[in-house]
Amino acid sequence: MSESYDAIVLGAGAAGMMCAATAGQLGRRVLLVDHADEPGRKILISGGGRCNFTNLGAAPDRYLSANPHFAKSALGRYRPQDFIDLVERHGIAWHEKTLGQLFCDGPARQIVTMMAQECARGGVTLLLGHPASAIAHGDGLFRVTIAGRDHTAPALVLATGGPSIPKLGATGFAYDVARRFGLSIVQPRPALVPLTLGPEEALFRELSGVSADVAVKSGKTAFREAALFTHRGLSGPAMLQISSYWQHRTPIAVDFLPDQRADWLVAEKRAHPRATPGAVLARHLPARLAAALADRLALSGDMANAPDKMLRAAEARLRAWPFTPSGTEGFAKAEVTAGGIATSELSSRTLEARRMPGLYAIGEAVDVTGWLGGYNFQWAWASGRAAGQALAEEAV
Ligand SMILES: Cc1cc2nc3c(=O)[nH]c(=O)nc-3n(C[C@H](O)[C@H](O)[C@H](O)COP(=O)(O)OP(=O)(O)OC[C@H]3O[C@@H](n4cnc5c(N)ncnc54)[C@H](O)[C@@H]3O)c2cc1C
Repeated sequence: MSESYDAIVLGAGAAGMMCAATAGQLGRRVLLVDHADEPGRKILISGGGRCNFTNLGAAPDRYLSANPHFAKSALGRYRPQDFIDLVERHGIAWHEKTLGQLFCDGPARQIVTMMAQECARGGVTLLLGHPASAIAHGDGLFRVTIAGRDHTAPALVLATGGPSIPKLGATGFAYDVARRFGLSIVQPRPALVPLTLGPEEALFRELSGVSADVAVKSGKTAFREAALFTHRGLSGPAMLQISSYWQHRTPIAVDFLPDQRADWLVAEKRAHPRATPGAVLARHLPARLAAALADRLALSGDMANAPDKMLRAAEARLRAWPFTPSGTEGFAKAEVTAGGIATSELSSRTLEARRMPGLYAIGEAVDVTGWLGGYNFQWAWASGRAAGQALAEEAV
């Protein structure tokens, strides 16, 4: 005997809970499954424990995807304000930190509790602590075996995320199931991830712990945020952001003087001829970083001794300091996975697979990856909502 539902949602993370709650509240009988013992583990540790649950600027151009238009439909129908309304209905206090990033005032667990309550309101059956050991399809029904029992439904939603941070239970399971049903996958890669530097950049690795406000560029993409030097390379919001766009073996350019006007070093020479270049840089940059940069630029003696031409060349270097990362810290440290189930396989309105009716994919499992700062949760909520509504529209 198998237990039958209208839909089975695999993965009780942000996207899966939103999808299950939506479909359940619209009258569908939904089974929500996770191999972890509790739902929403990534939500719990997100945003430094305060969950950066959305971003006021969540527009489609802040997402990476092989099809930059794909996310428009879902994001347009479930906006940051919709999630804020939900958070406020649950009495959760929040604040804007910076750059449109909204965080809970209290612990991130409030968001998990809220989503669990929304699932309960929709009568969702939650099955935790067991992986799906087999998935089959026949006679218009998906059959999922969990802990030795079969569960069937005409709709199956893949909401198991991507493989970033495996120690939290993250897997490439969604890709395996999608491939089995003939869907193609855009090569998954770590994103929002620290970059590593090779031995030739040892000087900078010695700056471990130093951070500075920089502008960083890779190709045509640039971010203005804090960068952090680590014992392995480069981290901090600016570097995590650029990592999603970085291509292996290409340089990134760091502007250490984003606030200084052109010819700043020459003006400093006129104003402070007896200062050392290191001391001039240290007025705007952390002392250890200023010293390392002055050393690399071979600027010694007083400012007065440096010809204007040399100072202009040094300034040009400081405005586009090239680093060629040796790699990234990989999926173990990546906040998200870029790539995933190809958007060309899915309807942007319903997130249903075109060539496998009844199969849906949402959240991070799909080839849609947001910037740092609440954008990834907004995609998880919006895609979960879109699929949940579609499940309720389907005649089952
Ligand atoms: C440290 C960290 C901090 C982050 N902070 C933020 C933030 O503040 N703001 C933001 O927008 N984004 C943040 N992110 C990214 C965000 O967490 C993800 O983009 C988001 O959780 C994706 O939601 P999802 O539901 O698609 O996948 P997930 O939240 O990863 O959920 C997938 C679920 O599927 C389950 N699962 C996996 N494999 C299986 C399987 N084989 N069988 C059954 N269940 C399975 C997992 O246990 C998990 O519960 C952060 C990520 C990390 C790692």
